[in-house]
Amino acid sequence: MTLVLGIESTAHTFGVGIASEDGVLININDTYTPPQGVGIHPRVAADHHVAVGPKLLSEALRRLGIGIRDVDAVAFSMGPGLGPALGRCYPARAIAIKFAKPLVPVHHGVAHVEVARWSVRFRDPLVLLVSGGHTMVIAHSGRTYGGVFGETIDMAVGNALDYFARSVGLPNPGVPHLEECAERGSKYIPLPYTVKGQDVSFSGLVEETLRLVKKGVALPDVCLSLVETAYSMLGEVVERGLALTGKKELLLAGGVARSKRLRSIMEWIANEFNAKLGIVPPEYAGGDNGGMIALTGGLLAYKSGITIDPTEAVTKQRWRLDEVETPWFGNEPWFNK
Ligand code: AMP
Ligand code: MG
Repeated sequence: MTLVLGIESTAHTFGVGIASEDGVLININDTYTPPQGVGIHPRVAADHHVAVGPKLLSEALRRLGIGIRDVDAVAFSMGPGLGPALGRCYPARAIAIKFAKPLVPVHHGVAHVEVARWSVRFRDPLVLLVSGGHTMVIAHSGRTYGGVFGETIDMAVGNALDYFARSVGLPNPGVPHLEECAERGSKYIPLPYTVKGQDVSFSGLVEETLRLVKKGVALPDVCLSLVETAYSMLGEVVERGLALTGKKELLLAGGVARSKRLRSIMEWIANEFNAKLGIVPPEYAGGDNGGMIALTGGLLAYKSGITIDPTEAVTKQRWRLDEVETPWFGNEPWFNK
């Protein structure tokens, strides 16, 4: 059995996971929540990770009844993310050097996709990745997830909705509170709906909704209109992606995959196209988590021979998902059992 430790620290969450051929064995995470009305300050998030990191790491090992010497490799999310927070992946590098373990770099967005694909056992889906940092409709193509059917050209949907929520005084995390508020709304107000080609844009939408709130329009109606407009834009791109590719699996990944409203829209679309809908379960949507890093780093990347010299492991704040080679695709160990 191969045991791989995974460490996540790209944004608000410090997470530790341990995976083996049996899947994710341990997944424990601690998320920094900024005070109401404030976004994540990268340095404060980094301080949080330093404070909780050692405790989480020993807790993960204790729960599995193993020591650090028992792990075969250490995987970490090398990017993309907030510089200072990413920098706190020091435990991964330190462990790799001190205990002479292979170090495995993982792309955070790819991990969101792979943990979702593993959870629902999809082979080759069209993926809607929606999280704080990503908004993409992608499929695997050639050697990467380079079939990008659409993506945001400005803010990620989670970020955009969180920003609005924060600005109008709703608590963190923004999206579920915004949706709760939307449920009390009754009137749809037409808003900037921006699908350019296959790409989406949220900045004009957020600006206009904030203007409406300032003008005194009832907040629940604005929330309702914002949520419906943003998710409809995503729905349009997904529909086109399904029509274009003819894929029969639609996979919803990332933190915003927990949204009830988004799920129901995607269910409707999947039905229209006779496709199966798979949704990442909450513990791996959660949002960010160490489990997805351990799984992707351990079962997929490490088994494909992907490692990095710890002295050369420089975190990447910007790192496009479609640049990452995925040699494991089509040969996932869980289908060969
Ligand atoms: P991630 O970057 O994957 O951690 O996802 C973070 C995003 O997920 C943020 O925009 C949150 O507001 C959003 N989020 C958190 N909880 C929920 C939920 N229950 N439903 C929908 N979105 C959520
Ligand atoms: Mg994420």
